[in-house]
Amino acid sequence: MPPAWHGVLAGKLAAQVDELHRLCERLVGAGPAAAEAADEARARGGPERLGMLRAALASCQARAGVGGAGEPAAGIAGAVAGELRNALSRLAFQERALLALRDIAGLSHEEIGALLGLDAAGTALALGRARVSLRAALRGEPPEGGRCGDRERALSAIERRCDGVQLDGPEDDWLLEHLAACAECARAHAAVLEAAACHGAWSAAA
Ligand SMILES: [Zn+2]
Repeated sequence: MPPAWHGVLAGKLAAQVDELHRLCERLVGAGPAAAEAADEARARGGPERLGMLRAALASCQARAGVGGAGEPAAGIAGAVAGELRNALSRLAFQERALLALRDIAGLSHEEIGALLGLDAAGTALALGRARVSLRAALRGEPPEGGRCGDRERALSAIERRCDGVQLDGPEDDWLLEHLAACAECARAHAAVLEAAACHGAWSAAA
């Protein structure tokens, strides 16, 4: 193997180890529990990235609630990170896992579904719900209840659109018409976009 390839492979491995550690921190909090879960996932998950992420989910679920908050960073970025960590700690494990797999690991809805045992449509809906829950937790409000009979269809379409998944023409038209007519789904749309921007930027920067 030419020496340049060693550098490329070492860089790729370092990026995977970093991703795994950040994912575990998001799921169990910063501290020894996250490092242990990441090490265990590397040992058990096999060489493939999805296998390692699957093992990380199992290791973290076994340790959920064990970790600490970690050292707060200074300034506005630190305050935002603190609020996000606090809000995430109020979500269910699966909701934190959905958000971390999408925004830290950048997995597609199909890949996330394969790890969590959901189909792609179910993953989009669950992710949309997780983002609505995150925004509600950030604001200290209860998530809005579903009075709209089309809320699941709308939330799934909103989440797919937000994640850059191309909706087919009729579904896209339906969503735009529905959002114009349904105040509840229009608020859910705003909540998903705000949570995605906030959690996505923090996850990319962390
Ligand atoms: Zn609606």
